[in-house]
Amino acid sequence: MARVIEEASETKPRPSAWERERPALEFGSAWDYAPAPESRDHVRLAERYDLFIGGRFVPPKSRKYFATINPATEDKLAEVAEAGAADVDAAVKAAQEAYQRRWSKLKPAERGKYIYRIARLLQEQSRELAILESMDGGKPIKESRDVDLPLAVAHFFYHAGWADKLDYAFPRKTVSPIGVCGQIIPWNFPLLMAAWKIAPALACGNTVVLKPAETTPLTSLALARICQEADLPPGVVNIIPGAGETGGALVSHPGTRKIAFTGSTEVGKLIQRATAGTGKRLTLELGGKAANIIFEDAALDQAVDGVVNGIYFNQGHVCCAGSRLLVQESVIDTVVAKLEHRIATLRLGDPLDKNTDVGAINSKMQLDRITELSGYGESEGARMYQSSCKLPEKGYWFRPTFFTGVAQSHRIAREEIFGPVLAVMTFRTPDEAVEKANNIPYGLSAGVWTDKGSKIFKITAKMRAGVVWANTFNKFDPASPFGGYKESGFGREGGVHGLRAYVELS
Ligand code: NDP
Repeated sequence: MARVIEEASETKPRPSAWERERPALEFGSAWDYAPAPESRDHVRLAERYDLFIGGRFVPPKSRKYFATINPATEDKLAEVAEAGAADVDAAVKAAQEAYQRRWSKLKPAERGKYIYRIARLLQEQSRELAILESMDGGKPIKESRDVDLPLAVAHFFYHAGWADKLDYAFPRKTVSPIGVCGQIIPWNFPLLMAAWKIAPALACGNTVVLKPAETTPLTSLALARICQEADLPPGVVNIIPGAGETGGALVSHPGTRKIAFTGSTEVGKLIQRATAGTGKRLTLELGGKAANIIFEDAALDQAVDGVVNGIYFNQGHVCCAGSRLLVQESVIDTVVAKLEHRIATLRLGDPLDKNTDVGAINSKMQLDRITELSGYGESEGARMYQSSCKLPEKGYWFRPTFFTGVAQSHRIAREEIFGPVLAVMTFRTPDEAVEKANNIPYGLSAGVWTDKGSKIFKITAKMRAGVVWANTFNKFDPASPFGGYKESGFGREGGVHGLRAYVELS
């Protein structure tokens, strides 16, 4: 049963006739499934993980280790080495040596063979890796198993294919690699982001130093083990977990020729400042506040399901999440009613249970941020709807939530919450929808739901967003470029456009 949170102020919209008269939602035990836990036995966790530099796991010169925990249980999973400035230096030097001596000199087809090998090993070990991803990050196993892992594998296969065909990607140009790439990734899709960064860099003949996020280092370190198993020449891939300072040292190291970053707009701006004037190449994939637009002629059940997938997938920890919903005024009551029904059926809980739809929030820090920003929703006058699902006693959890009566100026409509929280607004005309959707500093993605093909073309052409989905959401393919406008960053990942970020053309 869904519950409607009491209005906090008199400025809130009055309930519609439908809301006053609707029957209470009583699902009883209709949605109770028997537990279907994935076994943890497939995962071999070490007590301690070292840095992966020059093809070997080495203890950190910093002598520091930090704990990585399971956000669903708050249990410590392992200790992980924290790379300091001297470790960053060692990793960059290992990557430089590998670049100069081996990787850039290897025949492109030979490079491709190594990348194919990594892809096949990832595929073979995908069950273990999916479980590890869910344990370290809190995402439901059905997402890590069916989305993160297959896409990560696909990225390696796709880019392996490009390794000896770069002349066809850039006809009439001489294509050469850049050198050592410093790559910094976030915690929302740890292994997938590592694949997005490493696969194209290697295919283009570069070597890499990758820093995973502090809360989710384990699958990147498992990928390091796979690089060893694939006999990748030492130093081609170096993986150095650590904190923000580790990322900062990698960015400012004179040996890195290109920086690729995915994360918050705030840190993206710091990196842009740090690299300005250095001649380093830079690509930034930053935050978003995507609008999903539902027109009155849309298939509403499908649209609502797409909206649910757009915002509650991966607990809303998605840079392109559809966190704003714009609904044509004539169908707002119906859409809100369907949304309320739908969030009541989402199963929240153990990420390793195959029936779980919404897992744990990635960290205590992120939970605090989501709680704080959602609090502004109510205090600024919006009306909160939350699923009434039971929260586990331990771990970090946030109920699927949406707000109605949201104004464009509300913080929940402007700031990236990065959690399972949706801001619902209305519009009357297509022009108003476009105006409102674009009225935001971000421009990463958008969604349009309508029955009319001509409307799709008309509206999508006006959206200032890097990716616009029509009658679907959150669809990814390695051949399809992804990236943002405005404060969502610049540069593309995936497809031919993504290769451009890792080559010099003359
Ligand atoms: P950050 O941008 O801080 O983290 C992304 C990566 O950058 C992590 O590996 C992080 O390391 C590293 N990093 C942090 N500071 C620096 C620095 N000064 N120089 C170089 N690298 C650095 O995101 P947070 O994890 O702090 O999340 C904060 C908010 O950012 C979220 O609430 C969300 O709104 C947004 N976000 C957006 C993402 C996106 O894909 N668009 C992804 C993640 C977050 P470490 O993990 O050690 O901090």
